[in-house]
Amino acid sequence: MTVRVRIAPSPTGNLHIGTARTAVFNWLFARHQGGKFILRIEDTDVERSRPEYTENILEGLRWLGLTWDEGPFFQSQRLDIYKEAVKSLLDKQLAYRCYTTSEELEALREAQKARNEAPRYDNRHRNLTPEQQAAFEAEGRSFVIRFKIEDDREIVWNDLVRGNMSWQGSDLGGDMVIARAAEDGIGQPLYNFAVVVDDMDMQISHVIRGEDHIANTAKQILLYEAFGAKVPEFAHTPLILNIDGRKLSKRDGVTSIFDFKQMGFTPEALVNYMTLLGWSAPDSTQEIFTLEEAAKQFSFERVNKAGAKFDWAKLDWLNSQY
Ligand code: GLU
Repeated sequence: MTVRVRIAPSPTGNLHIGTARTAVFNWLFARHQGGKFILRIEDTDVERSRPEYTENILEGLRWLGLTWDEGPFFQSQRLDIYKEAVKSLLDKQLAYRCYTTSEELEALREAQKARNEAPRYDNRHRNLTPEQQAAFEAEGRSFVIRFKIEDDREIVWNDLVRGNMSWQGSDLGGDMVIARAAEDGIGQPLYNFAVVVDDMDMQISHVIRGEDHIANTAKQILLYEAFGAKVPEFAHTPLILNIDGRKLSKRDGVTSIFDFKQMGFTPEALVNYMTLLGWSAPDSTQEIFTLEEAAKQFSFERVNKAGAKFDWAKLDWLNSQY
């Protein structure tokens, strides 16, 4: 099998240490396997995506030496492909138009909250008759496209980091929105949908990303199956934590790669540090690596499940070694 991996940042902010570390693991795995590392910019969120963030992400990856073999591909240039894909699921009746209004959804959520239930869509428009549909259209209601998720479906995969994973369809929040409407029919795709269409199209063999995407993976597997496509392997990497053990966030100050540059850290030290955020070499006393050296030894067996604490002292020490 040809190994093809990707990094798929959303340009809604500068290159973040979490994304950069995900890029490092993808890069190391691709090099170790003699595979390809692909760059995709997930800029379908038109309100939050900005060209200057895309520029910052590309520059940051280059500065770190995380060169890519294909791309960058831009989701914003692939809308026709997503529309075709939505259409194919509608044609197979695996997806449908849902006219539920935001007020109705809000009322549903309130009622579920009052019953102490988790919020979920109740699939009320799954089986509309053509007449009901026409009536909603005549009212001038807008719609979204939802993909059917059966409650009794069990979704399993063998995660390269976390081992056997299992999800129940009923835990996925009801039929999922995959696209919005547009004047001429199908419009903007949603994250989980665009990702699957792209990963299929780009023949991604291994999806390596942060563990905050685990629930998305369960949904995405259902989409692969709906398309009759091969499901890739998944590896969910541990989150990067601050000293309090919480997910490292903007509130912790430095999170953007060029902030580290400004503080005087070299790209070699930073990339070396990131390889050790959740991974250790077979000889765990070895801590100084170039990317190429780490790639020779990289495997998911030595990636931790537990979150990786950000350790300034260690980064400082590594920086002094270069
Ligand atoms: N665009 C997603 C993010 O920035 C990446 C999703 C993925 O790797 O599948 O979190």
